[in-house]
Amino acid sequence: MADPKGFLTTPREEWPRRPVAERVRDWDEVLVPGALLPVIGGQADRCMDCGVPFCHDACPLGNLIPEWNELVSREDWRAAAERLHATNNFPEFTGRLCPAPCESGCVLAINQPAVTIKNVECAIADRAWEEGFAPPAPPDRLSGRTVAVIGSGPAGLAAAQQLTRAGHTVAVYERDDRVGGLMRYGIPGFKMEKHHLERRLAQMRAEGTKFRTSTTVGRDVDAEELRARYDAVVIATGASAWRELPVPGRELAGIHQAMEYLPLANRVCEGDLESSPLSAAGRHVVIIGGGDTGADCLGTVVREGAATVTQLDIYARPGTSRDEDEEPWPTYPKVYRMSAAHEEAGALRLAPGAEAEVDARVFAASTLRFAGDAEGRVCRLDLVEVDSRRRAVAGTERSLRTDLVLLALGFSGPDRGDGLIARLGLETEPRGTIARDAGFATNVPGVFAAGDAARGQSLIVWAIAEGRAVAAAVDGHLTGGETRLPAPVGPYDRPMTV
Ligand SMILES: Cc1cc2nc3c(=O)[nH]c(=O)nc-3n(C[C@H](O)[C@H](O)[C@H](O)COP(=O)(O)OP(=O)(O)OC[C@H]3O[C@@H](n4cnc5c(N)ncnc54)[C@H](O)[C@@H]3O)c2cc1C
Ligand code: SF4
Repeated sequence: MADPKGFLTTPREEWPRRPVAERVRDWDEVLVPGALLPVIGGQADRCMDCGVPFCHDACPLGNLIPEWNELVSREDWRAAAERLHATNNFPEFTGRLCPAPCESGCVLAINQPAVTIKNVECAIADRAWEEGFAPPAPPDRLSGRTVAVIGSGPAGLAAAQQLTRAGHTVAVYERDDRVGGLMRYGIPGFKMEKHHLERRLAQMRAEGTKFRTSTTVGRDVDAEELRARYDAVVIATGASAWRELPVPGRELAGIHQAMEYLPLANRVCEGDLESSPLSAAGRHVVIIGGGDTGADCLGTVVREGAATVTQLDIYARPGTSRDEDEEPWPTYPKVYRMSAAHEEAGALRLAPGAEAEVDARVFAASTLRFAGDAEGRVCRLDLVEVDSRRRAVAGTERSLRTDLVLLALGFSGPDRGDGLIARLGLETEPRGTIARDAGFATNVPGVFAAGDAARGQSLIVWAIAEGRAVAAAVDGHLTGGETRLPAPVGPYDRPMTV
């Protein structure tokens, strides 16, 4: 601890966001470039280096947070980058995208605002790239063993990097034309600009990882053939089977799944399309679903120039502070959070249907039906307020005008359309995810599973942790039980709850 009184003298200060009016005119990250570094030393100084750092446990990667906080406050960026990369392959991704359960577990958060751990992580990661502290780390020698990783999201990429660095020859198969999974075509650039992804991919290529894009395993390449060709296979295909909303009128034109809508907007940013065929420009949009995906739709809708937008959340509006009885420290509490996208829709007064003018959300709202016009296009959504057991509250029915509805209701498990699961004869859990044992192995010898495909819809930090852990399991399998690779999580580990 460089400054033992830091937490007493320095208030929490976060990386500021650019003004709303400026940032909604582009797709760049919402944060002010260059504004983090001047404050971050003081923020790292707020870390108390407490005896039992709960932030370690709250972070699925087991990031060595107090260690790098101290190194940052001493301005030893090289050592901080080394400690950070010891547990996290892609800290510039988590430093931008993670909801930071570590901060809920920060001991300071018992009675004060937590240390800005996520910001410190991002500052170290960015500095490491600027100063060249993250060069490619190819293996000294090759093992002669081969691994196919199916899926190039954070789980597949972390597994591939770990296994390549351990000396195995790794090929990543990806059905999309570009690598990155949901970080490429799901998550918009205003949360993380894609050049961060490109830089890591260049590092991975220089280390020897091979990428085969536009290749759907199960359709373009036979899964059994792949199994025969490689010594091990890691399935990291994500959970892209979306949940449906079976209410009257669902078949009307103008109602789309979030993951039909978001990839098109991302493709515009990549330069593949001039404009999105589903653009929200000038339209009255309703987003159904109150999670991350819904918020990403919201920020995208705002930038495309929607006339109005309302976001429906089936849950009641949470309180502004932690409920100490229901969700005591150090768990990650459900509290009212205002993402950048919510701030934007509120500031631009785009949500006439919402409860408060400053927020586009309507809480405790359930969709009853859609109505269409003479051409079969959606023109109205009827909703009702629900109680905590999702029962309709009498007399609360109302309608919203809409001509574009986006469904962001979550995902149930991996896509079955490619035939991969059936072809390999993989056992699945009742909820549809791929079943595996305590060592990440599926029922098919030599085939392992990691990330959302097996865990179910989760977070990037969990996907990276799973990728690292499955790499350790595969390395042990290939080398006869011995591995020096770390396994930060087991397949049955869950976030810290009561
Ligand atoms: C819109 C959206 C926003 C999100 N925002 C956040 C956020 O801000 N922070 C956060 O922590 N988490 C967020 N998440 C969740 C996070 O993105 C996921 O938990 C994470 O990406 C899962 O990683 P994964 O590697 O398991 O799968 P994915 O990222 O889904 O990657 C799986 C890859 O496998 C490929 N694939 C599938 N089948 C095949 C096949 N047969 N052959 C070849 N390739 C195949 C897919 O094309 C895909 O590229 C968000 C999710 C969504 C949908
Ligand atoms: S990865 Fe997420 S949980 Fe872990 S230290 Fe970073 S922000 Fe915190």
